[in-house]
Amino acid sequence: MGIRVGIDLGTTYSAVSWINPKTQQPEMICSDAHSDLMITPSEVWFRPDGSVLCGADAKEAFENGEVGVANTFKRFMGTSGPCFYTADGEGKTAEELSAILLRHLKEQAERHIGQPIDGAVITVPAYFEDEPRASTRSAAEQAGLHVIDIISEPTAAALNYGMGHWRENALILVYDLGGGTFDVTLVAMGKDRNLITMGTMGDHRRGGRDWDKALADLIVRKLRDELGLSVEDDLEVMNELTAGAEEWKQKLTKSPSVRVRVPGMGAASVTVTREEFDEATEDLLEQTGSLCDHLLEELHVSWGQVTDVLLVGGSTRMPQVSRFLTERLRGRQPIAHVNPDQAVAMGAAICANIARKADLVAFTPGGDAKEEVRRRSASLLQQTSTSVVRPSQTIELSSIRFQDAVAHAMGIVLVNAEETAYVNETIIPANAPVPCKYSRATLFDSRAGEMEIYVLQGSGPIDCCTVSAKYVASGITRTRDPLCTMHVQYSYDAGHMIHVQVRQDDGTEDLPLRKEPFTQEDIARFMLPYEKPKAPPASEAMAIVMAIDVSGSMDGSPIRLAKEAMEKFTYDFEGMNVAMGVLMVSNRCAWTCRPTQDLEKVRAGIRKVRVGATGGGNTDNPFRDILAELRHRRGPKYAIVLADGAWLYQSKAIEDARKCHAAKIDVIGMGFGDADEAFMRAISTVDTVMTTDAQLGLSFGKIARSLGAGSGAALSTARGGLFQRKKQDAAPKARSWETVMELDKGG
Ligand code: ADP
Ligand code: MG
Repeated sequence: MGIRVGIDLGTTYSAVSWINPKTQQPEMICSDAHSDLMITPSEVWFRPDGSVLCGADAKEAFENGEVGVANTFKRFMGTSGPCFYTADGEGKTAEELSAILLRHLKEQAERHIGQPIDGAVITVPAYFEDEPRASTRSAAEQAGLHVIDIISEPTAAALNYGMGHWRENALILVYDLGGGTFDVTLVAMGKDRNLITMGTMGDHRRGGRDWDKALADLIVRKLRDELGLSVEDDLEVMNELTAGAEEWKQKLTKSPSVRVRVPGMGAASVTVTREEFDEATEDLLEQTGSLCDHLLEELHVSWGQVTDVLLVGGSTRMPQVSRFLTERLRGRQPIAHVNPDQAVAMGAAICANIARKADLVAFTPGGDAKEEVRRRSASLLQQTSTSVVRPSQTIELSSIRFQDAVAHAMGIVLVNAEETAYVNETIIPANAPVPCKYSRATLFDSRAGEMEIYVLQGSGPIDCCTVSAKYVASGITRTRDPLCTMHVQYSYDAGHMIHVQVRQDDGTEDLPLRKEPFTQEDIARFMLPYEKPKAPPASEAMAIVMAIDVSGSMDGSPIRLAKEAMEKFTYDFEGMNVAMGVLMVSNRCAWTCRPTQDLEKVRAGIRKVRVGATGGGNTDNPFRDILAELRHRRGPKYAIVLADGAWLYQSKAIEDARKCHAAKIDVIGMGFGDADEAFMRAISTVDTVMTTDAQLGLSFGKIARSLGAGSGAALSTARGGLFQRKKQDAAPKARSWETVMELDKGG
């Protein structure tokens, strides 16, 4: 068997770790032959001769001003377009670049340990959404790696920490302040060596860079106050200050003050003390603290219950961070620094060699998922607060199980109960355990034919969320009551990948689902008030006359089958803006129902149709009556003329039919039995349907579809019209979803 490794695929540096079989401890693997460090710069160099170099070589080339070096591409993971162009103008996506880098890491590591790597756990930031996670997985597969799992960086850091400091019933707050992001995660060391991520929150516009900017601003203020120099408008000086700020900030970590010589200002210099810097950045720190408060509140945990704080990320080296957290903890709890360059990769290596807590958490359909997450967290806390935190002991790797949590709530775009606005309905709440699944029922207008599902990440209003995917469910059966119940299930597999399934009413089969691209305009319409698809005024309704031959030859099964087919036909138009009429024709004509939108009346009219009611022969034709009844209508007009033989006065019939054609009445001749096809064609404007009595139903169905009943154009306005289940509706039945993908095969 080959080796399983953990890979920290970082923005600036990447690292590989494994469990040394001799010591059973995680160790770093040198993944860059040209670096003495155990880390590899996340950079790729496309050289002019066509060869590609990664890591330290690429970083050095970049520093020497070579062209063709790609770096910091991790930020673009999950976006589809190229984020980098080679000197030849060839575009590369972040995924392609990551695949090249991962292949390099794999090959270097294999060379170093002299064994093939056959599986890897790769880490991603907790805030990574579905797309960038999927993209990371796909990059690794392109690099020839078998992906065991994709896990969150803070979970990996906590796993690594847990190995050395296992204390049953401890609650660990992982505080990760990097260069451009901040994340806080709460992890519980539960019973039976279960390491459970309880929740995570992040601010992805807050990071070391903001401290750099605050320091640059402070220097500008001091130059003005102490030296009377105004540099705000001097672009060059401002650029130099911004560029230098990171270095001065890092100096302030080591020394209590730093002397800043202002570029281009001769001997001008100011001294900044750590106190001044801390004061100028107090609010930034306070913001990270608020996010911690918020997470703890959300999970019903007090600062007093936190047993350890784990500091991850380069910016936590600033002394102000631990001081601030010590205050929050009232000095009681230990604060541990981990080596951010290694902790994540080592945690991933541990993960690659242990099992996930496999139980799939399925929420009760129709229940309050958010409340369930709360209850789960509360019961965990119950355990931890009533039992004593046991001191550390050496533990065996194989005894640990872990469970990750969902960073983002996942919702669906629905129309609210008042039908006035689009809303984000959460299906899976944030901080739900992974893997998990949850389904929700919604009313849906089955006439729409297809249902659009916009998968939202985030729990706020739609404009604060990301649309992560659009799916279209097809194969929806039209129901007699046009409103049917659709069950939409979201499930998170162990790798935080979301899966969507849809079923209709009591169906036990998933509906076919296709992924579709979407545009900003698609999304923009959700910010506007919801407009119900408007029914055109009655005078513009579609009108359909069914004229049926009731001469003697129709007696018996032909009339019975025809009436059945006609009645079924009316149901296809249920809820549509349509008027229908029924006309008998033989020696005379007679309406059993004049055109009306009340389809119940139409059906009653159909039932009244009787052979011989207007005589047993074929001396009349229906077109004068049809013309008289339909000529003033403004909507589309159709006459379906059903006959089984030849009419006596054919030329008169054709002449009258042409008057209908001139009045924009489309005539569909439907002939069966001994009907004369040439005659039927002459009276028709559109398809003539020649059929048999056994196939009458089918032929009517085809006509219904071509007239827009079912999924045709006439209904396109209703497409995507989703209706939230109204309050008075009974709770949906529990569903089994037995065909759900194999979620519990993680780790
Ligand atoms: P990321 O994970 O976002 O790529 P890191 O966790 O490596 O980033 O952290 C990078 C940040 O840490 C930068 O803003 C850098 O300035 C800051 N940093 C690194 N070392 C120090 C230090 N000694 N003092 C203060 N800030 C530091
Ligand atoms: Mg980091």
